[in-house]
Amino acid sequence: MSRPRVREDVALMAGYHSPQMDVAVRLNTNEAPEPPPPGFAEDLAAAVGEIDWHRYPDRAATGLRSDIAALEDSAAPGGLTAERVFAANGSNEVLQSLCLAYGGAGRTVATFEPTYALHSHIAAVCGTRVVSGERTDGFALDLAEVERVVLGERPTITFLCSPNNPSGGVDPPEAVGAVLAMVESVGGLLVVDEAYGQFAPRSALAALGEDRSLVVTRTFSKTWSAAALRLGYLLGPTWVVEELEKVVLPYHLDAVKQVAGRLALQYRGEMEARVARLVEERGRVVAGLDRLPVTQWPSDANFVLFRPEGVAGEVVWHRMVDAGVLVRNCASWPRLDDCLRVTIGTPEENTAFLEALGSSLR
Ligand code: PMP
Repeated sequence: MSRPRVREDVALMAGYHSPQMDVAVRLNTNEAPEPPPPGFAEDLAAAVGEIDWHRYPDRAATGLRSDIAALEDSAAPGGLTAERVFAANGSNEVLQSLCLAYGGAGRTVATFEPTYALHSHIAAVCGTRVVSGERTDGFALDLAEVERVVLGERPTITFLCSPNNPSGGVDPPEAVGAVLAMVESVGGLLVVDEAYGQFAPRSALAALGEDRSLVVTRTFSKTWSAAALRLGYLLGPTWVVEELEKVVLPYHLDAVKQVAGRLALQYRGEMEARVARLVEERGRVVAGLDRLPVTQWPSDANFVLFRPEGVAGEVVWHRMVDAGVLVRNCASWPRLDDCLRVTIGTPEENTAFLEALGSSLR
């Protein structure tokens, strides 16, 4: 038997690597450190008993999309309705649907590095050419660089990540507005990935409009403490949502997910309190890092990027794993040699992290 040949471009790709290890303190994937309130699992167990198991779920997920629209309504000018919400299996599937609809063979996607690796990876899997510009030395947006890439390459999708994973900073509204004007001038779509949006003081949601080529993606995986749920969404013009509905598989959101997503949203107050606690803890971690021999970058997210001084990042990473603390080794990212990224955990986890880091640097 001769094995079928995989697509040449896929053969050359590396898969997504983020090791899952069994250690006491896991601060490597920017999850929430606490589960949702106990009432959530109880409500869900009851709701699962009501599902019509022999029927396909609501294909349009109208109830879930209406609830998401109501949640984000006040942030978007003119408000939101279900028609301006697209939901999928994690925001990664939202990004994939965008690349299927607006990327693909003969088209170009732009990213500004270092940033979330899945933007370029998903685009490439969808057969899209990827062009990458650079962020500044401090990982801010460089508008001259954006202009060079967007006006020069005319991408159909331009990705921003705000707060940016892995550097942590939120892009200022003036910068996002300037990028949007450039993107619109070449007939492209601007995607602002706000997976960490609720941790930041500013959001691109304020720039949404039916006549703007802008979409914002968000997720239940971080602020909603529901990474296991695999649910994410996009807010944007109806004409984008309509195209995404064409490329996504029919009934892609199963009945359990639809009901679980709606139940999760009933704990908004708890979510906001949890986010506030994490932001406060972030301040404590930043202050702790300040006292250690590391360089760190300002964060508006639930993680902090830092570079140990005097000891190689890889060595520090291994020493910390030995001490039972897992952080993300960012060495495979362009320009992030020796950098590590820590997710903000519970107060106890953060203390364990600061102690393990302190000893690993000695
Ligand atoms: N965007 C960014 C910037 C992320 O960091 C992540 C998760 N690490 C995602 C999107 C994907 O999240 P999910 O698919 O869990 O919604």
